Amino acid sequence: MTKDGLTAEELFRLPHGLAYNDFIILPGYIDFTPDEVNLESQLTRNIRIKRPLISSPMDTVTESSMAIALALLGGIGIIHYNNTIEEQVKEVRKVKRFENGFIAEPLVLSPEHTIRDIDCIKEKYGFSGIPITMDGKLYSKLVGIVTNRDIDFETDRSKKLKDVMTRDLITAQHGVTLVEANEILKKSKKGKLPIVDEKGNLVALMSRNDLLKNREFPFASKDAHKRLMVGACIGTKAEDRERLDELVKASVDVVVIDSAQGNSIFQIEMIQYIKKEYPSLDVIGGNVVTEEQCRNLIKAGVDALRIGMGPGSICTTQTTMAVGRPQASAVYRCGKFARQYGIPVIADGGIANIGHIAKALSIGASTTMMGSMFAGTSEAPGEYFYENGVRLKKYRGMASLEAMEKGGSKRYFAEESKIKVAQGVSGAVLDKGSMLDYVPYLVQGLKHSFQDMGIRDISLLHEKLYSGELRFELRSLSAQIEGGVHDMYSYKEPKYM
Ligand code: GDP
Ligand code: GDP
Ligand code: 5GP
Repeated sequence: MTKDGLTAEELFRLPHGLAYNDFIILPGYIDFTPDEVNLESQLTRNIRIKRPLISSPMDTVTESSMAIALALLGGIGIIHYNNTIEEQVKEVRKVKRFENGFIAEPLVLSPEHTIRDIDCIKEKYGFSGIPITMDGKLYSKLVGIVTNRDIDFETDRSKKLKDVMTRDLITAQHGVTLVEANEILKKSKKGKLPIVDEKGNLVALMSRNDLLKNREFPFASKDAHKRLMVGACIGTKAEDRERLDELVKASVDVVVIDSAQGNSIFQIEMIQYIKKEYPSLDVIGGNVVTEEQCRNLIKAGVDALRIGMGPGSICTTQTTMAVGRPQASAVYRCGKFARQYGIPVIADGGIANIGHIAKALSIGASTTMMGSMFAGTSEAPGEYFYENGVRLKKYRGMASLEAMEKGGSKRYFAEESKIKVAQGVSGAVLDKGSMLDYVPYLVQGLKHSFQDMGIRDISLLHEKLYSGELRFELRSLSAQIEGGVHDMYSYKEPKYM
């Protein structure tokens, strides 16, 4: 009996390159609930994570706040390298030093600041519990604290903080465990607990509300020392060897060699160099879209491959350079090839919703990398702004003219060129709220998708993909229209897709 639908091999043997929207997965048989779905997956040959989600190494997407949030939620962030070595290393260190519950870099003011300064902070960041140090800097002597209760009835907003702050403080010593600090917080009945070193210098802050929210992160991606995991990007130049050394000293868990076209002598030499110097450090190579490209980087020793050339939301490579590959075809071909060598692949770029994540996994990706989907969250770098009353955050391609001016053209071999040809644009994306709300939504959606496929986990999904049991179908243009919302006079889009 012939089975309904197509195998992936039949689907991708068709003459056209396919994007995620061009095909659909046929449903399977359900005998389990979404809660029974396990989304664990291989990030690299040696690193396993609980959620197949990675944030892009872009300067409007991943710095420490993003990497911390995503690691807590079971994914991993890759710190971008459009910065100095010191800056990048600092971001990596912040993630490695993050202790759940401690605010590692609280905003601080001096006794000479005014209530108005706190109003500004409140408006911009939403909190108003501010420790006061002698010179208004972190790591100097803690002299007081001002919270909402100290200032809410004060009509004179120009009053100095030294006149309203509480001086007699309950603090905890640096080095206390989270459990001990929580106990002190509970007993003190205060809203904040400043953490100080032996000299009385402020080093961190804790908030009672964080305790109340009782955020537990059972799926957090952690290393052997129970620190959060983080990745970082490097290039293929001589100076990148120094970057690499510093990142390793900061305990980076994995490095990504960032190149738009990874099949180059520069990248191959870099991979060989890393494998010689740091044999236990996992290296992600890329980007690649063909089997030939994969073969070269696998031979050089990569532990995972990043797939995608031109599908990114901010990307103009395929238009300008006429080189690249439709993303679904690239993921399928590379994933199938790399599997023979036990190398997992990352579907990078062009993912705009939960369905795209599910499709990328269903055609062989072990994990997915997102830029635009995460750029609008509060954990992405940069401030929100308003345009026509809509709350937005900036998002730009690393090969946009704007990012290249800041040194972001490294991945395009274009640093020394006098004339810079953009391969990306800069713009804005909608406010998405916090990763802490968004990622659980994505995860739950993915679990439902797996349930519809009748598959409980990613390795089973890949088994059924390659055995031909998982069935697909092409979608005509009208099928794609039919599959979206249509024939409505008006409707309200859900907050997330
Ligand atoms: P507050 O009482 O107005 O300071 O606010 P809450 O303590 O209720 O909430 C502040 C939230 O912002 C908590 O989740 C904090 O972990 C978080 N946060 C992040 N950075 C800072 C900071 O620099 N200072 C304070 N106070 N909170 C911060
Ligand atoms: P809320 O966030 O506005 O509810 O304020 P808190 O509960 O943090 O603080 C209430 C009062 O206690 C304010 O006058 C604060 O200045 C003061 N306060 C806050 N933290 C401490 C602390 O660690 N020790 C002491 N002694 N007072 C504090
Ligand atoms: P998105 O998730 O927004 O669709 O795509 C993000 C991915 O696009 C990144 O992970 C990276 O691979 C790629 N990318 C980032 N900046 C640029 C750029 O300026 N040009 C191109 N061609 N790709 C970019």
